[in-house]
Order: sequence, then C-alpha cells, then structure tokens
Amino acid sequence: MVIKNVNLETVCGITSTIPENDRFEVAFAGKSNVGKSSLINALMNRKALARTSAQPGKTQTINFYNINDAMYLVDLPGYGYANANIEIKAKWGKMIENYLHTSKKLNGVFLLIDIRHDPSENDQLMYEWMVSQGFAPIIIATKADKLKRSQLPAHLKAIEEVLNVEPGTIIIPFSAETKQGREEIWELIDSLVLV
Ligand code: GDP
Repeated sequence: MVIKNVNLETVCGITSTIPENDRFEVAFAGKSNVGKSSLINALMNRKALARTSAQPGKTQTINFYNINDAMYLVDLPGYGYANANIEIKAKWGKMIENYLHTSKKLNGVFLLIDIRHDPSENDQLMYEWMVSQGFAPIIIATKADKLKRSQLPAHLKAIEEVLNVEPGTIIIPFSAETKQGREEIWELIDSLVLV
C-alpha cells in the first residue's frame, strides 16, 4: 500500500459503540510497551500519530486509522500493564474481546510479542482466544534491532513454542528503528484487505 493519506477517524472508549465501517479492517493487539504505537506509526509513515511513550498503559481506547479511504488499521488497547488495577485490566480485556467479536469488517489480526522475551500468560490467553474466535493471528516479533541477527531464529522459535502456534502461523521480526519487516507486513495487510 502506498500511503497517500491517513486519518484517525474514530476513537472508542469503554462505553463507545464500535463503528460499522464499510471498509476492511486489520487489528493490532499486544501488551503495553510492546511497541504497538511505534509499529503503527512506522506502517503509516508517521512519526507520532499513534502515541508512543515509555510510560506503558496509557492507551485505553480503540483507535481506527483510515488509510487512503481504502481500509482501517485498528489499534487495540495495550493489555497486561502490571500496575493497572484488576478492574481496569478486565475492562480493557472486555473492550478487545467485544471488538474482535462484533466487527463485521475485521479481516486480519496481528499479535505483537517483544522478540526478547517469552510470551506472557496474557499473550498466551490472547492468542488462544483469537484462535478460538476463528482468527489466524499473525505474530509480529517487535524490537528486533535489540538482538543480534544470529540470535533471531532461537527467539522466534521460543515465541512459537510458548504460544504453541497453529501450523503455518506467520511470524515476522520487526523493528521500528530499522523498519525491518515493514514491507512484509504491508504485503500481508494488502492480501487481507484488497479482496
Ligand atoms: P506501545 O505501548 O506498545 O504502544 O509501545 P511504544 O510504541 O510506545 O514503545 C514502547 C517503548 O519501546 C518506547 O520507548 C519505544 O521507543 C520503544 N520501541 C518501540 N519499538 C521499538 C523498536 O523496534 N526498537 C527499539 N529499540 N525500541 C522500540
């Protein structure tokens, strides 16, 4: 996709109704601080449209970015921020579930995992839940620049093993610093939405 224009069209809070868009959507999920805002900014060629911060747990909305009036990138709230209280965590989980359940235009989901660490229990739950809802999540292993190239295969394998991924699952190393993986992710998005 050649990015011509991007627009943060809809922001949904806990009590908002999910919009009924007439164009396809792809959604991005991951725990707080995994690098989701950085990925979305990199995909859109924007420096700071999606918020990035070293303070995890800030994004508590579902953000719909209209790309070229052709599709939406959907930024889901980061989950699993350790310092959030249980009630808040449950609400974010419900928002994500509600969206994944109700959107009629969602054609693909991406689950972000920090390439340096084994997936957390929340990551495993999210992955299993997505699969149970009939999605085939594509895994993006973020912050790939933080490892040496020679270390990547072992870390990718560990992610696959801990998540116990379905056969054929795609896992893409990505870096917002070097933009490694950006083209591959756009090719996948194009194949999901340009149908
Ligand atoms: P979010 O909470 O998932 O939206 O995460 P952010 O995109 O805000 O990133 C969290 C922190 O990780 C920030 O300090 C980013 O600068 C840093 N970060 C994100 N992506 C990368 C990456 O690909 N490489 C490196 N080295 N740092 C990253």
